[in-house]
Amino acid sequence: MNLPQIYDGLTAGTMTFNLYGHLPARALERLLQAIQRDIKGAAGGLDGKWNMDRNDKKTMEELNADMRDFFQRAISREYRPGELMLWTDHPEYECQGCGVHMKLVCVNDNEIALKGYYDRKANDFVQHEAGFLCPFRDPKPTTGSIKIPSGIFVFGNFFNHIDDAPEGKRYGDIYELSSRQGRQAITDFKAENGIAYGQTTNTSVGVYVHPNKDSILIAETYLADGYFENLSDEEYKALSTADKKRLKKELSEPEGHKLKGQFSCGVWRWEGTDSKNVPQASLDLLVEQCNPAIKVKVKKGRWQFEHQHELPRDQHIWARLKLTDTN
Ligand SMILES: [Zn+2]
Repeated sequence: MNLPQIYDGLTAGTMTFNLYGHLPARALERLLQAIQRDIKGAAGGLDGKWNMDRNDKKTMEELNADMRDFFQRAISREYRPGELMLWTDHPEYECQGCGVHMKLVCVNDNEIALKGYYDRKANDFVQHEAGFLCPFRDPKPTTGSIKIPSGIFVFGNFFNHIDDAPEGKRYGDIYELSSRQGRQAITDFKAENGIAYGQTTNTSVGVYVHPNKDSILIAETYLADGYFENLSDEEYKALSTADKKRLKKELSEPEGHKLKGQFSCGVWRWEGTDSKNVPQASLDLLVEQCNPAIKVKVKKGRWQFEHQHELPRDQHIWARLKLTDTN
C-alpha cells in the first residue's frame, strides 16, 4: 500500500481507521490532509512556495524539482503490513483520554490502526498489540478527597501556593490539562496537598451549600435567568406569579443548596481547601483577581469531591462535594 492508495481506501470506506477507543479528535482528518499535501506537492501544486536560502545556489526551478522529487518519494513508498507508518508528535495525534502520542501502522490492506505510543516516563516508544484499549475512553468525573479540620471551607479560582504537579514534573509528565488521565493526576496531586480542584471552561460558578452543611455544589449561577429567557412569550405569560416564584426558587437552589457566593474562573477552574491551608498571599492573589475568597461554614471531617470536566450542555452542576467522615 502506498499513501495515495491509503487515502483512497480511507475516504471510500474500504479501509478502517482503528484507534481502539483513544481520542485524538482530528487524527484521521490530519492524516488525510498530510497525504493530500504529499500528492499535491508531487504534482507540482506547491511549486514556487519555497523559501530561497541566500546561500542556496539553486534556482527556484531547481528547488521545485527537488521538492517534487521529495513528495514523489513519499507517495511512492510501499508500506508493508505491520510497518510503522507515522511517527506523530503532533497534538492532534495525542489522546485526550490517556494523553499518549500515538503511532499508527498499516495493519493490512484494509486497516490503519494504532500500534503503540511514546511513553514519556520511559522516554521511549512502546509497542502494543492491536486491541490496546484506551483506559480513559469513557468520560468519567475526576475525584478525590481532602480534610476540612477547621470547618471553614474556602473556595476560589486558583490558590497559587501549590503547583499542578510535583517539583520537576510540571512538563513532559502525566500532569497535563489536556487529557483525562492528566486532569485526574493533577486532582490527585492537589488533593494530597489538601486542595479540591476541578477544571472548567472560562465561566463563573457559584458555591452552593446545603443547610445540613454536609454537601456543597459548584454550579453555574445563570440558571434561573437562562430558564426564563428560553421561554416563548406564550409560555412565559402562561406562568402565574406563584409559578414564577416557585420556579425561580427551585432553579436558584439546586437540590436544596443555597448560594453562598460566586467567582469567575479566569484560570478555568475552581479550587477549594480548608481555610487553615491557605497562606495569606494566596488569598490576596484571589482578591487581586477581583475574586474574593468564599468562605463557607461546614461540618468538619473528610470531604469527597467529584467533578465533571466534560459537562453536558443541559447540565449545570460542575462538582459535588460531600462529607464522608466526621473524624
Ligand atoms: Zn487513550
